Amino acid sequence: MSFPTHRPRRLRRSEALRGWFERRVLPRRGLSIRCSCARGRKSARKLAPCPVSINSQSIRLWKSAARCSRWGFPDHTFWSARNKDPRGASSLGKEGVVQRAIEAIRKAKLKLLVITDVCLCEYTDHGHCGVIENGEVANDATLAILAQQALSHARAGADIVAPSDMMDGRVGAIRETLDEHKFENIAILSYAAKYCSGFYGPFREAAQSAPQFGDRRSYQMDPGNVREALKEVELDLEEGADMVMVKPALAYLDVIRRVRDAFDVPVGAYNVSGEYAMVKAAAQKGWLDEQRVVLEIVTGMQRAGAEIILTYHAKDVARWVKAC
Ligand SMILES: [Zn+2]
Repeated sequence: MSFPTHRPRRLRRSEALRGWFERRVLPRRGLSIRCSCARGRKSARKLAPCPVSINSQSIRLWKSAARCSRWGFPDHTFWSARNKDPRGASSLGKEGVVQRAIEAIRKAKLKLLVITDVCLCEYTDHGHCGVIENGEVANDATLAILAQQALSHARAGADIVAPSDMMDGRVGAIRETLDEHKFENIAILSYAAKYCSGFYGPFREAAQSAPQFGDRRSYQMDPGNVREALKEVELDLEEGADMVMVKPALAYLDVIRRVRDAFDVPVGAYNVSGEYAMVKAAAQKGWLDEQRVVLEIVTGMQRAGAEIILTYHAKDVARWVKAC
């Protein structure tokens, strides 16, 4: 598949986008920070099992976004929300928490690259990433909702949409819908190889997005399978993904390397909440040198082939790298 599905210029459109791919050792750019948002001023929640804050922040988080902007480095943000119903309908509207947060950032004219997480699990009361039909997560019935959600993010001003649901065909559905509505320049960062992992624990607790029945093994991948990761990446690229992500990162560095070697596109590593919590907990107990270990971890992900690193350590790395 080629033009108009593929448009390499999508990733060269702005200073922020070009800077994201600028290469240097331990780049200050290329690192991304994950933010969550929820309605209300007092919605910040600290994770019970996590010794440090991975907070859901209030929609007024454009203030913290402003700080990101001032650092001049982790100028990339992800959003998620917490409004629940069976079909995740609250994820679609103009008044949705993510859409409003993007608008707030745009109004404040912050120099941020806004990447939105596209999925249903944070909006559904059952906690699955798709709608439920006959007791199962229904693939095809979910696609139109994901496409509409991505479209609403694009309308609100997102630069990049990042589907994380692992439904088959979602990248194609999103690309088609964006193009139909003249958002052909909005890029897609696909969570192409997302494993069913125990490392998501702290985030799920914060977002209250743990599945209420069953698990996610019918759509997320089995940790032992690399062949499937390559297949998933191949399919997403065929459908029009501009970039792909491997998630989690640390137990999957070989997958990042295999994807890097097999495909000539930007590859991302998602350093998830459980990976972050392990380091923080050990550092707090004095069992390891946090700065040294974190820089080693980030370097390892880069060495494995990740050009984009999404990590909760981003703020600290920014500080440390600046000080070097
Ligand atoms: Zn999900």
